[in-house]
Amino acid sequence: MDLVQPLTWPEALAARAEQPDLLPIAGGTDVMVDINFGRRRPAGLLDLTRIDEIAAWAVEDGALRIGAGLTYAQVESDLAGLAPGLAMASRTVGSPQIRNRGTVAGNLGSASPAGDAHPPLLAAGATVEVESVRGRRLVAAADFFTGVKRSALEPDELIRAVHVPVTGGPQQFAKIGTRNAMVIAVASFALALHPAARRVGTGIGSAAPTPRSAPAAEDLLAGELDWEGRAPLAASVVRRFGELVAEAADPIDDVRGSAAYRRHALAVLAARTLTWAWDEYRTQEAS
Ligand SMILES: Cc1cc2nc3c(=O)[nH]c(=O)nc-3n(C[C@H](O)[C@H](O)[C@H](O)COP(=O)(O)OP(=O)(O)OC[C@H]3O[C@@H](n4cnc5c(N)ncnc54)[C@H](O)[C@@H]3O)c2cc1C
Repeated sequence: MDLVQPLTWPEALAARAEQPDLLPIAGGTDVMVDINFGRRRPAGLLDLTRIDEIAAWAVEDGALRIGAGLTYAQVESDLAGLAPGLAMASRTVGSPQIRNRGTVAGNLGSASPAGDAHPPLLAAGATVEVESVRGRRLVAAADFFTGVKRSALEPDELIRAVHVPVTGGPQQFAKIGTRNAMVIAVASFALALHPAARRVGTGIGSAAPTPRSAPAAEDLLAGELDWEGRAPLAASVVRRFGELVAEAADPIDDVRGSAAYRRHALAVLAARTLTWAWDEYRTQEAS
């Protein structure tokens, strides 16, 4: 098997254009599993781990730009304040070994409906920066996932970075698995409050062919929250929010859980994360 190891981003884009049958590899925590189990037999690998310029993050124009080479461990340690929802989700991925190798870009590259980075990226209103020798484009996270393990990425494109708006608003992530670690989520949910825009963002994982948001739940909450007075939440609003999140899902029955269980779990996760996020928002005012 060929191994191409570019040292710069332009070299990587050129290699991608010239040899589209090379499979990009970042942390390898999905790619190597697929190769070892014989699910994939690529002609070769395009190793992106030697490229320093994508292994960094920065805040640019009010958004966090997370380079494709950043690992979950770095997101957890460096970005908990700027992208709290993504950092929370990162903390739940695999094990320390997986988090030391695995990247958010690799999660996007695999585009699994169960990818843990996806719900917080949807909730935050993130965009994916993709590039080829033809140029660079920004794809909203909401448009990135096109089917089960399918994405808007063209064959000659690579993910360069993910842009996450920095709002200072509370963000939460919660997931349910068959045990506490090293499992694929049975259902997951992310919530982001955007106080300046009086907007709410949501992300649902493992409960539809693609990660998706719950627009009706977002609209209900944005209208019901007492953004100015920060009054306590009415129980009826919390309950309705959970119901609308569950309705937005399109889950399947599988070995990990039934569709009915997934819907129920989502309603519970949505209610919990809303309570936590709103409590945080109310405390922010008091401090
Ligand atoms: C034991 C174990 C536990 C796991 N637990 C979890 C978990 O709890 N939650 C979870 O979400 N995932 C989990 N995973 C899956 C995996 O760790 C994640 O999907 C991870 O984000 C993949 O990142 P990576 O850098 O290792 O990607 P890789 O395996 O290197 O690549 C994954 C895919 O993305 C593509 N790709 C990588 N980088 C780019 C780029 N810059 N541009 C374009 N395409 C690119 C690759 O070609 C490939 O198709 C687990 C995996 C294992 C083995």
